[in-house]
This record gives sequence, C-alpha cells and structure tokens, in this order.
Amino acid sequence: MIDAASEYGRALPMMMTAAGTVPAAKVFIMGVGVAGLQAIATARRLGAIVTATDVRPATKEQVESLGAKFLAVEDEEFKNAQTAGGYAKEMSKEYQAKQAALVAEHIKKQDIVITTALIPGRPAPKLISAAMVASMRPGSVIIDLAVERGGNVEGAKPGHVAQVGAVKIVGHLNVAGRLPASASALYAKNLLTFLDTMIDKKEKKLAVNWDDEIVKGTLLTRDGAIVHPNFKPKTAA
Ligand code: NAD
Repeated sequence: MIDAASEYGRALPMMMTAAGTVPAAKVFIMGVGVAGLQAIATARRLGAIVTATDVRPATKEQVESLGAKFLAVEDEEFKNAQTAGGYAKEMSKEYQAKQAALVAEHIKKQDIVITTALIPGRPAPKLISAAMVASMRPGSVIIDLAVERGGNVEGAKPGHVAQVGAVKIVGHLNVAGRLPASASALYAKNLLTFLDTMIDKKEKKLAVNWDDEIVKGTLLTRDGAIVHPNFKPKTAA
C-alpha cells in the first residue's frame, strides 16, 4: 500500500481546501490472506475508500471488521472454496468467468488495485486482464504481489514498474526484501521454531520424530532414498 501511495501522485484521504476538494482514493484489494488484510488496514489508515474480494467465505467478516466493503461472487462454489487447512482452492472456469465480470465492472472506478491472490502449489490465478487495465482512469496504480508466481495481472513485468497506457503496474520482486530487517527477524524465528521441534533439550542432541506432520511434509531424503511423495522418481509403468 505504501508502494502504491508513492506511485500514485495524488492524495489518498478526502481533503477539503480553500482551493477545492480532493476526493478520497478508491482502493481495491484482491486476495485477503496475510498480505491482503495488512493492505486493507494500511489503506484505511491512509484515508482511502477500501473494497476487497476473496474466494474464501471466512474473509468476508475479516474484511468488514477492518472497515472495508466485501465484494465477491457468493454462490455455492464460494461457500466451499476453503480447504481444511484454511487455504484457497482453484476455482472452476464458470466461477472465474463470473468473478471476471464482477471485477471488470468494479475496477473501472478504482484508483489503486493491490492483488495478492495465490493458491498453494498452483500458478497464481489471472484476475485482471489487459482490457480491465485499459478501463481504469489515467494515473491509476496496480500492485501485483503475485508476480513471482506468474502474476494476477496481465501486463505485469517482474522486477519493473510497467507503464501500460496511462496505468502503472508495479511488479516488485522479493517484496519481503524491501523490509529486510523485519523479514529477516521473522524468517529467523520461523527457522528456529522449526528446528526446535527436532532437538532433545535435556540430552542436547538431535531427536527427529519421523511421524511428525512438519517433518513428513519437508523431509526429502532418508537413508539414501528419496522419501517425499512429490519428489519420488517416476517408476516405469
Ligand atoms: P496466500 O498468500 O496463499 O493467498 C492470498 C489470498 O488469495 C488467500 O486469501 C486466497 O484465498 C486468495 N485467493 C486465491 N485465489 C483467489 C481468487 N481467484 N480470487 C481472489 N482471491 C483468491 O494466503 P495466506 O496469506 O497465506 O493466507 C491464507 C490462509 O492461511 C489465511 O486464513 C491465513 O490466516 C492462514 N495462515 C497463513 C499463514 C502464513 O504465514 N501465510 C500463517 C497462518 C495462517
């Protein structure tokens, strides 16, 4: 959101001055996971009018509790779009078409769009077409946070701020690296917590529980053999 504000070239909150009124910026967040929720909260603090969308029904209440308006195709498929682990599923072609129609109408009226949509183990869903980009007002800004996984936005260039017509599409790589101290602290804590489960503190030695879910999910090889189901060599039929 801060990156978007710096590219935008206009004020975000509504301002009534002797020289006239500056309208509040309209910000639309697509994908309301960890990054999207943070973007909503920041956009609200900066004084923007915020809407957000996601395919997981649980996000509706989260969006509203942050003072933003929720917008989504809320059909039967939407009601079942969250996996047991709390992550999104890939949506059907029919759902994607309905979502695209809704987004196309909404996006024309937005000044800033931030996309964060990801599906574990799949390429990022394409949410914004070139035609939708072209429908936006001159000076609008799009931030594609999914650019490293294929991108949510047509025309996004990984590692560049692309000028597409009168719209800027920001495709920063390694966004965590733009806040290196915070990112390193969190990453270090993650690694420590991970390794901590494998240490016997009394005996002060490595003690791996091979049945642990985290170990099973990350163990690639053991005793000279590839053991992870996703990496096992394909046997001849
Ligand atoms: P993510 O980065 O995998 O995806 C971002 C968001 O994109 C998700 O909310 C997902 O539902 C949404 N999305 C996917 N396809 C979409 C589409 N077609 N249109 C619109 N939105 C779409 O997600 P995340 O930030 O890791 O969070 C997912 C869930 O996992 C949340 O419930 C979160 O609280 C939980 N969680 C995540 C972490 C973490 O460190 N990432 C930790 C604990 C809990």
